[in-house]
Amino acid sequence: MSRPRAVPAPRRLSTAEQIEAVFSAPALYELAQLIPRPPVGRPPANPAYVVLAYGVLARLYRSGIRVQTELSHPATWGLVHDTVARIKRQLPDELVPRLPGDRPATFEAFRNARDRYLTDPDIRAKLQARFIDAAVRQARSFGLLRPDGPGSLCHPDRSRTIYGDGTVVRPMYRPPAARRETDPETGETRVVYLDPAGEPIEAPGRRFDPDVAEYHGHAGPVFGQNFVALYARGDGPQQRVVLAIDRVPRPGLEADTAVELIKQVHAAAESGIQAVAYDGAFVGPQVDEVMTHTGLIVVNKVPAAPRSAADKARAGEGKVPRWYPLGVWEHDTPGGSCGHTVAAINGAVSEVGLDESGAPVVLGRLNRLQVKRSRRSTGRYHFNVAYRVPCPAGEFTAWITPHAEPGDPDHRRAGHVRVIAEGEPDFARLYGLRNDAESWNSMLKRSLLVDRAASLGGARQLVDVLCFALLHNAMTAYQAALAADPRPALKRAA
Ligand SMILES: [Zn+2]
Repeated sequence: MSRPRAVPAPRRLSTAEQIEAVFSAPALYELAQLIPRPPVGRPPANPAYVVLAYGVLARLYRSGIRVQTELSHPATWGLVHDTVARIKRQLPDELVPRLPGDRPATFEAFRNARDRYLTDPDIRAKLQARFIDAAVRQARSFGLLRPDGPGSLCHPDRSRTIYGDGTVVRPMYRPPAARRETDPETGETRVVYLDPAGEPIEAPGRRFDPDVAEYHGHAGPVFGQNFVALYARGDGPQQRVVLAIDRVPRPGLEADTAVELIKQVHAAAESGIQAVAYDGAFVGPQVDEVMTHTGLIVVNKVPAAPRSAADKARAGEGKVPRWYPLGVWEHDTPGGSCGHTVAAINGAVSEVGLDESGAPVVLGRLNRLQVKRSRRSTGRYHFNVAYRVPCPAGEFTAWITPHAEPGDPDHRRAGHVRVIAEGEPDFARLYGLRNDAESWNSMLKRSLLVDRAASLGGARQLVDVLCFALLHNAMTAYQAALAADPRPALKRAA
């Protein structure tokens, strides 16, 4: 069994090293194979991977135009050439690229390829899927997501836990003033743009992103585009691998977008993953869907209960615990049958009882002994968890399922029961991974904010995010290679 190795603190990479990192990443060549060649006309001056790398470098330089200026310097274009010539010898036969052309890639060539191919829905879906395959391979090369790795379903390992988050990227330009009108005859709604005086106009007079929408987060409404990403990471610095990204099609669908991505990553990594950490956007239906479709344990918090005045009086300013009754488990004792009432309290399976005044009271959390996962004829997974129930007449084992049962179409049980619940060491260890997603979100935003392309609509912004994910993983791979051998890349190759 291998674990991610501890590495020395990574140093900052020079721009030349970052360019080397981009052109050294096998994922660049793998994804570029999905970009078709123009059917007619002159052959393009540069291979498809150069066009894709252009988009990746646009995230490095934070501007698409800037890349053209940088690449037009003979030393920089020479570095691209040398890096490709070196990596050619290390790539599998089917990926071996032809060398870049004599003339550097241009913004126009990138823009044409982006608008014609990279934003094509079919091609983009294939790029996203192949990105996942390449990312899972990279993660495994770091000792992550390994089917032979450490951990169990009862106590998953961090190296086999994926985590995710959504983030709203604000547009550079505010959306134009508009209102929705409903046609009284057809009942259809349409958007009417308004001039500064509030009068209806044909079209907005300035640049804007037609795909931004209002998302409601913890900090109130935000206008922008919502992107979801999944990750895995080692325990050292700069060992994060972006596994998958997608754009949320419209407000209210972040959690479902994330569930679909988890299914795709699971299809690529299979038993290499044991658990997934996500935020409170996953409630009953998503928790049950992930667990039954992929067989992964979902690690997240049960959302706080809505607070009434009576709750506040009882619990003060603290979180109001969520109670969900699970039933009575009986066992035989010398004195006859003995019953224990079990409920999920903030997700944790617990024994409950009544105090002297008859009010419900938590007697204690039950210890998780074993997690059993079976697969049904439908292909769906089913979990059953064994808990030790203490009793003066002799402890016994209760098997409890976290799944919705017949008569629970809203998945309320799955919404309230967590195999790994807040307040236990496993939860802190695994859920803690999620904090790391914040730093990727802020790096992504820094790479996008000053880019004019940020107002070009959802499909092109998704290309930007995919390119940033490629850049990020290329840097992670480069840092790992440096950690293994700190000599310059050209010396390492020789
Ligand atoms: Zn008992």
